[in-house]
Amino acid sequence: MITVLKGTHDVILDEASKYTYVEQVLIRVAETYGFKEFRTPIIEASNLFTRSVGDSSDIVRKEMYTFLDKGERSITLRPELTAGVVRSMVNNKLFIEQDYPKKAYYVGPCFRYERPQQGRYRQFNQFGVECVGVNNSYRDSEVIILAYNALKMLGFKDITLKINTLGDEESRLNYKTVLKEYFKEHLNSMCPDCHERYNLNPLRILDCKVHEDQEIVKNAPKMSNFLTENAKKAFEEVKAILTENGVKYDVDDSLVRGLDYYSGVVFEFHYTSKQGKNYGAIGAGGHYNKLVKELEGPDIEGIGFAMGIERLVSVMNDDNLFDEIDLEDTMLDVYILPIGEENIAYSLSFANKLRSLGYATEVCLENKGMSQMFKKAERRRAKLALILGENEIKNGEVVVKNLALKEQETIKMEDLVEYLDEILIKEE
Ligand code: AMP
Repeated sequence: MITVLKGTHDVILDEASKYTYVEQVLIRVAETYGFKEFRTPIIEASNLFTRSVGDSSDIVRKEMYTFLDKGERSITLRPELTAGVVRSMVNNKLFIEQDYPKKAYYVGPCFRYERPQQGRYRQFNQFGVECVGVNNSYRDSEVIILAYNALKMLGFKDITLKINTLGDEESRLNYKTVLKEYFKEHLNSMCPDCHERYNLNPLRILDCKVHEDQEIVKNAPKMSNFLTENAKKAFEEVKAILTENGVKYDVDDSLVRGLDYYSGVVFEFHYTSKQGKNYGAIGAGGHYNKLVKELEGPDIEGIGFAMGIERLVSVMNDDNLFDEIDLEDTMLDVYILPIGEENIAYSLSFANKLRSLGYATEVCLENKGMSQMFKKAERRRAKLALILGENEIKNGEVVVKNLALKEQETIKMEDLVEYLDEILIKEE
């Protein structure tokens, strides 16, 4: 049997309804903040990611799905969407008109060749936003508030928001020099990845997950001691605006994020389900200063975040957050039971009339006995079963059975729409 590839998964049936629900809530919230949808390609030129996500990131170093196409071009399945969205803003000349900020939201699959584990897939879905231009703490805070409120809208109550600042260029330069000095002494006992990070970007060592390295990492000098006055001020402003807006946060000075393009404020959302399961960050993001320019846009800065739909759905499943949500919209309204093969064709066109009125309708496409058709209707989780036989059609009537109440009645065709509206819309 051919099965899904390692680290990938089918999202089907009820689970798919949950994905759609979560995505729609996130999209709705982003739209209330004035963000517009961007759909960028899944395949991109590989150097888009080496130039943006960065050579020192785990993503570029070992997780990209990269291949040569038939024209010998190096292509990569996008590991994240920020780079593609900013590239599209540049390519489509959105920055010519300087009514900043440019606001994009996106949703779609990403690909990373990671070791699959709880909450970690090789193909997964992200929802995210990018807000580019207008470089100040109001913009940065508003994007974090958006993410926080979107999680609230999904029903999350105790979200942990960790924030930190990576400072400005000057802060980071000072800090990197000090970090290099510190890690130089310990490098011999550290993991091979840290050796590489030491040369490419010593900040990345702070993100090392290897157990034996933790003590060394913990005792490393802290970024907060190397911030310039401007960087400190910007961080203080963001924190004040978050507090003013009722957003609770914890400052975590070990938070550096795994992508090279970040600067300034960075953040992660964590949530542990009631059963104690932690799927890693459910969302994360940060400010970027050089990304737009790196992709040949103007010298402007932006901020964005991404949330993992898989992780959101997993924690929501664990904590029964879907129980309070009406996913019934996805249920079938009407299942038509044609009596005898000769009435199937009539039932098909009748179903189309109901669909054009907005009712999800299916027809039993085979000539089956009544009890079998009722069983099918129940398996389909239809709200109503409609019986269409020779007599009903001749008399301009239809027999309707409410499958939940187990009540059956005969309705005149001309009264049916009113009847359906009453039963099905009243329920919502
Ligand atoms: P990142 O782009 O690494 O900042 O990730 C943003 C969000 O995407 C994370 O907070 C996760 O929720 C989700 N995510 C990242 N990698 C994976 C993965 N391999 N599988 C599932 N979700 C992921």
